[in-house]
This record gives sequence, structure tokens and C-alpha cells, in this order.
Amino acid sequence: MDPATGQILKTVADATAADALAALTAASHAQAGWARISARERAEFLRRAFDLLIARTETFATLITLEMGKSLEEARGEVRYAAEFLRWFSEEAARIDGRYQIAPSGTLHQIVSRKPVGPCLLITPWNFPLAMITRKAGPAIAAGCTMIVKPAELTPLTSLAFAAMMQETGLPDGVMNLITTNRAPDAAGALLEDTRLRKLSFTGSTRVGRLLLRGAARNILRTSMELGGNAPFIVCEDADLDRAVDGAVQAKLRNIGQACTAANRFYVHERQAKAFVARLAERFRAMPMGPGLAGEVIGPLINDAARQNVHALVLDAVSRGARLVTGGEIPNGDGYFYPPTLLADVPADTRIMREEIFGPVAPVQTFVDDKEAVELANDSDYGLAAYLFTENLDRATRMSSALETGMLGINTGLVSDAAAPFGGVKQSGLGREGGAEGISEYLTTQYTGIALPVR
Ligand code: ADP
Repeated sequence: MDPATGQILKTVADATAADALAALTAASHAQAGWARISARERAEFLRRAFDLLIARTETFATLITLEMGKSLEEARGEVRYAAEFLRWFSEEAARIDGRYQIAPSGTLHQIVSRKPVGPCLLITPWNFPLAMITRKAGPAIAAGCTMIVKPAELTPLTSLAFAAMMQETGLPDGVMNLITTNRAPDAAGALLEDTRLRKLSFTGSTRVGRLLLRGAARNILRTSMELGGNAPFIVCEDADLDRAVDGAVQAKLRNIGQACTAANRFYVHERQAKAFVARLAERFRAMPMGPGLAGEVIGPLINDAARQNVHALVLDAVSRGARLVTGGEIPNGDGYFYPPTLLADVPADTRIMREEIFGPVAPVQTFVDDKEAVELANDSDYGLAAYLFTENLDRATRMSSALETGMLGINTGLVSDAAAPFGGVKQSGLGREGGAEGISEYLTTQYTGIALPVR
């Protein structure tokens, strides 16, 4: 469905549990042969995929905008970001290392080597229909794992085009299998019960992540979980307001607020709050809203349920005393549009300060000192990303170490990068994607002890 119009774009296959198991059979048959292929060859598949994807940026960007809604410019950005994971892991494939040592007792040669985990189930969300797949499939291929990709039901087209493109790289049959389905619990349930599956990597809500972890306990699967976020955005007393406002626009409106790293709660020092709110409101009001394919910046939200949820959070905050500065009204017409919305003087115990908004709404609360800012920021079950604006190095260093977060942006509203470990603490997840850490999630460690002759 095109969220800018509500029209059906295309109908795709709806896989059953039996289809999912057929995909696992293919993955499982291909695993041993794939693991024997050299790291350099695995890297070459990824490198070819990177080149192909970059060459087809416009095609993929158009598909992403059509089925997901973000602006064409942002969709091009997603294609480049997605491609970076293919390039990065093509480079990492050749650097899988091991260790050799002599045991302290002098009785053993000790060799530590790394092996692919085995067939993986990769479940991805709709907000980055391409990048969330390459961030998992890239390291899986680099490590020598076979896989079943289960994209979100709301964005199947990008993933189907990606799987077809991977076939063009010459990737052996069975290495990457893709199932589109409206019956995710059935398909995933059948796979989690099958002992041939060795790993689950999931990006999505904390609620579903918790369910899947329970399912993964059955066969003691390796798991990587990228779950919800509730990122604080802190503007200190000494912050440079130009940078803070730019950062806020980026951290809030990227992907129309539909990112797990999106700034969710804005904590602004009481001396900066008035100017920050005025300037951010000005920027929000100037954002053109409309279909992404028409070149507009603020596209639609993914569906009506998402829009109603965002609106309910705004209404709840206003009814509890928050001040609506701009936005906050559902526009007439087709598509699931919601305007950039700014709320000031938001009470700490409102739903909007505690729940993931997943929309273009910025709630602002003030604080009086650094200690209070850190306490407010850490008062959450989530710990994925945080943003901090200050010109003072001591303050930045002190607050960095006090913030409970997997990722921290200082004087920037964007931290995601293929070369850096993406992931959270607390209920935001387990494991890391990207960076040198990303490939480890798809490798197991084997230790071999070789007897040394007794002297
Ligand atoms: P979001 O709120 O971003 O849609 P979800 O956690 O609902 O996040 O969905 C993320 C992914 O998880 C999607 O691919 C969806 O199909 C899948 N999913 C949802 N529920 C289940 C489930 N019970 N078992 C397996 N996968 C699921």
C-alpha cells in the first residue's frame, strides 16, 4: 500500500509456516558448502552487491518511497546507507581472525578459531525497508551463514527487489531465502521450533522482541535484538543553539520521526528553552508536507493506526497541561500525513515522554542543572540513543559516562554509520550491528587444545 494515497500498489505471496520451513530446508542444505567458500569470495559477492545497489539507487529509492512514504531524497539516503553495510562487511569478511597461545601450564597449544553460527532468521521492520536487511544480511554473508529473511508485511517490495539483486551477484542458491507473509507469528514460530535454525536477529518493537526471545529460548538460539528506543535530546545551558536546532530537526524529522533512534524527549536548560522552542517551531512550520515522490520533505506516516497513535499521544499531553506550539492537527485529504508538531512545558509523567512516539512530534521539558538532565534522561526502560548539546568538554565527558545509552551523539543529531556499533542497553536490545562488532554476532568461537609433548 502507498501510504501517501492509501492505494494498493501490488499484491505479493503470503507465506505459510510450511513455506518458512521449506526456506529453512534450503538454507540448511546450503550451509555446509557456503561455510567452505573462502572469505575473499564471500567478500566479492558483497562488493558486487554494493556496486549494483549504488548503480540502482533511483530504482530502490522509488520503491522505498512508494511503499514506505519517506521523501525521495531520504530514500536515496537510505539506499546509500544500506549499501554501506554491504561494502563494510565485504571488508570485514577478510578480517575474521583467531588466536594462538601456549597454555600457561605449558601442556597445550591453544588455537581459538571462529566459525559461522549457521542458518539465521532475520526479521526486519518497515521503517528502513532496505537498510535493516543489509545490516543483517551483510554480516551473515561475510561470516558464512545462510539465512531466511522475513521483511515487514508493510514493505515487501523493496526486500523482494533486493533478494532478486542478490541473485544477480551469483550468490549460491539457498544462501539467501526470503519469505513475505502476513502470518509472521506462524512462520517465525515454526522456524523457532526447528533445531536446524541456529540464530535469530530481530529489529522491531520491544513487545515482539520479548516474545521472540521467549521462542528462541526453546532451542537456545543465538539472538541479536534491536528493539525500541526513547532517546533523550539534551540541550545544556552552554549549548550552541544553531547546532542544537539543526540537530533537533535531524534527530526528530528524519524518516518522519519513524526511527528507533529518533529524539523522543527534549530536555532543554531553562535559560535556553524559550529561544530553542521558538526557533524549532519556525523550522517545523517551514517543512513542506506531501507525497515523497513529489519531492516533499515530510511524507505520510506508515498507516492510519500509526497516525492515530501519534495524535492520541499529542492530545493526552495537551490535556495534561502541555502547550501546543505548532502542528497537532490531522490534515484533510488522502494519505496518512501528520504535521511536524512541537509541544512545550510537557509534564514528565505524560505518555508522550515515556512511550516511543514514532512520528514527527517533539515534546519539550526544561531542567535546571546537569544532574537533573541526566536523571530525567535515564528515567526510562529504554537505552538506545541519546543526544547531548554542549560546548563544554568537561560537561560532555561527565554526562557521557552518566548516560545509560548504547549510542550517544554529541553536538549531532545523527550517529548511525556502518562502521560503528549500533545497539542499545536495557530493554532496547542485545548485541550490536555494524562496526567490528557486527560480524561477531554471526560467528561462534571454537577452541582446540593440542597436546604438547611432556618434557
Ligand atoms: P513495528 O512496530 O515496527 O511494526 P513489530 O515489532 O511489530 O514492529 O514488527 C517488526 C517485525 O516483526 C515485522 O517484520 C513483523 O512482521 C514481525 N513480527 C511481528 N510480530 C511477530 C511475531 N509474533 N513473530 C515473529 N515476527 C513478528
